[in-house]
Amino acid sequence: MAGDESVADVGALLAAARRVYEQSYGGEAQVAVCAPGRVNLIGEHTDYNQGLVLPMVSGKLLPLVTVIVGSSTSGHSCSIETITESADEPRRVDFDLPTESSPLTRGQPAWANYVKGVVQHYRAQPLPAFKAVITSSVPLGGGLSSSASLEVAMYTFLQQLCPDDGDKVAKAVACQKAEHTHAKVPCGIMDQFVSVLGKEGHALLIDCRSLEATPVPLTDPNLVILITNSNVRHSLTGSEYPSRRKQCENAAAILGKSSLRDATVQDLENAKDRLDSVTYQRAQHVIEEIERTAQAAEALKKGAYQEFGKLMVESHNSLRDLYEVSCPELDVLVAAAMEVDGVFGSRMTGGGFGGCTVTLLQADATDRTIKHIQERYSGHPTFYRTTPSEGAWVISPVEN
Ligand code: ADP
Ligand code: MG
Repeated sequence: MAGDESVADVGALLAAARRVYEQSYGGEAQVAVCAPGRVNLIGEHTDYNQGLVLPMVSGKLLPLVTVIVGSSTSGHSCSIETITESADEPRRVDFDLPTESSPLTRGQPAWANYVKGVVQHYRAQPLPAFKAVITSSVPLGGGLSSSASLEVAMYTFLQQLCPDDGDKVAKAVACQKAEHTHAKVPCGIMDQFVSVLGKEGHALLIDCRSLEATPVPLTDPNLVILITNSNVRHSLTGSEYPSRRKQCENAAAILGKSSLRDATVQDLENAKDRLDSVTYQRAQHVIEEIERTAQAAEALKKGAYQEFGKLMVESHNSLRDLYEVSCPELDVLVAAAMEVDGVFGSRMTGGGFGGCTVTLLQADATDRTIKHIQERYSGHPTFYRTTPSEGAWVISPVEN
């Protein structure tokens, strides 16, 4: 039964985290929680432009998830340890609970900033101190949002120690705020939103302006959503993402709009002589990508996979040529996938400059697609078959 495989996977993460918990802190962790990373089908670099996105999460069956186990403790001092390799940074960090006069600030190790940010922006009081262990099956920095899954897992953990009002959208927003203030990444809302609100058997069409989500069924057993990790990460200066965001804000300001969500291709055309060519390109990508995402959601509802696939490839080409966030490795992975009979579409997913592609294909084409990509790609790709599942959940009671 497929379910057995899933339990073993989350179970293995859980067992590893519990073992480290016992070694590091003694005793058994009271609480265990899980939050998925994000697989974006289409709608890239549109969320921070108040646009549309169409992601899903892969949790229970084929897990790409972060697991946290832990317990509350007396006093003010919190300890948290990650088992996941994160650069050469120390794996364990201790910090005091924030107070009004001494909030939690950024520091080293860098990974702990995601955790501290969530503690700082948690929406209920009084939080007890805690000790906890983190582990994850989401590749770090691979475009599947290990960062959001860490934030949402952390928030879900804190909910068990000190319940908040249960408002899921507010939870996603608090996690996004943590990434802004403590990790200093000016991300949109997509990743945290879908990590919290993901729905089994569905992708979510999220309107990042109204924060409304429409579930789009995605359960066809003849369809596979395959992630291919290029296993390359081009470390640029780290300024690429904020600079794209700034270019979009500039474009919106020149067009007289509060965001590019409110702009049309015609608005852009009318303002052509007031925009430099790069700003024009960035805005063109965003405006067209929002429209493509709306069309893709309609295509998915109708089961029009060819049409959906075509939009995915258009999205990739636009990210490559107009938004300039792809890289040769991602381009090869997409090109290779598109050469296989039974593949509907393929594109880079996530912020870009390395990381993963997402490919929509007929289930019976999966093996030959993987084989063909392996032959065509000179690096060492890893593959994940994903299935849309629910957002963060509590694994409770902790299994023995
Ligand atoms: P992505 O979200 O696409 O995986 P990011 O650069 O946004 O890439 O986030 C990756 C960072 O998140 C890591 O470098 C690390 O600081 C932090 N992180 C995510 N998951 C973990 C984890 N399990 N343990 C420690 N740090 C983590
Ligand atoms: Mg991230």
